[in-house]
Amino acid sequence: MTSSEDLHKRRLAAVAKGVGSVVNAYVDHAKNGTITDVDGREWIDFASGIAVTNVGNAAPRVVEAVRAQVERFTHTCFMVAPYESYVAVCEQLIALTPGSFEKRAALFNSGAEAVENAVKIARHATGRPAVVVFDHAYHGRTNLTMALTAKNMPYKHRFGPFAPEVYRAPMSYPLRDGGLSGAEAARRAIDVIEKQVGGPNVAAVLIEPIQGEGGFVVPAPGFLPAIAAWAKANGAVFVADEIQTGFARTGQWFASEHEGLEPDLITTAKGMGGGLPIAGVVGRAELMDAVHAGGLGGTYGGNPIACAAALAAIETMRELDLCAAARRIESIIEPALQEMRDPGVAEVRGRGAMLAIELVLPGGIEPDPTRTARVSKACHDAGLLTLTCGTYGNVLRFLPPLVISDEDLGRGLGILRAALRS
Ligand SMILES: *Cc1c(COP(=O)(O)O)cnc(C)c1O
Repeated sequence: MTSSEDLHKRRLAAVAKGVGSVVNAYVDHAKNGTITDVDGREWIDFASGIAVTNVGNAAPRVVEAVRAQVERFTHTCFMVAPYESYVAVCEQLIALTPGSFEKRAALFNSGAEAVENAVKIARHATGRPAVVVFDHAYHGRTNLTMALTAKNMPYKHRFGPFAPEVYRAPMSYPLRDGGLSGAEAARRAIDVIEKQVGGPNVAAVLIEPIQGEGGFVVPAPGFLPAIAAWAKANGAVFVADEIQTGFARTGQWFASEHEGLEPDLITTAKGMGGGLPIAGVVGRAELMDAVHAGGLGGTYGGNPIACAAALAAIETMRELDLCAAARRIESIIEPALQEMRDPGVAEVRGRGAMLAIELVLPGGIEPDPTRTARVSKACHDAGLLTLTCGTYGNVLRFLPPLVISDEDLGRGLGILRAALRS
């Protein structure tokens, strides 16, 4: 049997260095909350492949649906010869997203592609150029989405020049903005937008309801509704990037629901496909339908195998009530993280099964990326797969599959506790 060490040697000679991995253990198989590597070592999964395997890895319904579809047909291209599952996924997106207005949806391959298309639609529908994004935002790695993403290393460094007409506003980040209220932080952001961009130029205001790569930043209550209200009053399209927060992750189908938001457009991907690559843009029919026929699409967007997987994943979320499961995971992890707090843990935050701790130097809020990397490494050494995030690299984030067993959850938390103490 090939070992991880052998595979790693082959990888170094074959795979571009620019593609990194969190651990050098090569996967053999994975199930629910665990991943087993080719050396036979079992890992507890607090990453879900970055919030993708919400329904668990190799979830039975997804496996069955993919198997059945792959035997029927693998690809026709929806733009060439359409099929039911694409329509059914769009119907699900319309039914599951907040907003009782008339909606339409379109399918793509990746999160970045969904975000690009949301911007295309907003610009086309409004006839305006500017896109407003926020500090610490992450929206992808294509040229336009790099421009939308805030952080230079590793996402943007030496990859410019970037797409124009992208403007950055200050985010509500309660730990780091002196505890501005949601209304105050929104006022500050709106000042920047109005003074530096001008309301009539804004096509879209694009925001993650809880920031993902940027540090699991939960804005102060009232911030998102105030930004959405400004967009509405100024004829700009309010786009919620729910690629990481969507599909039951935060304890609701979409995180926008926590504050009663009804975004004009929502981008989805990650958890949507149960592990297969699929993404969507869903929102107001008058915006979505503004684009001329043939203006949106792509060879693989809404591939039938990915659509079958998405329908099976959504059915699993409903059947197992994974929104409730996410809230239950929160009720276990959140108090455990509070109990692990020491003077170097500035904050425990997040919602549902999207939780994080931010590590700082004791006595202030100076970020501590060194300890974050050390704790992370200690977790990996002990068999717990965790991820870091944050503009300052000082946030440990926890994204277990929503079907993880209490036993695996408990074992994972035990490893984390020991790693924080070491
Ligand atoms: C992951 C992510 C993206 C990009 O998705 P890809 O599928 O990696 O292109 C965009 N926005 C958010 C909020 C994400 O978490």
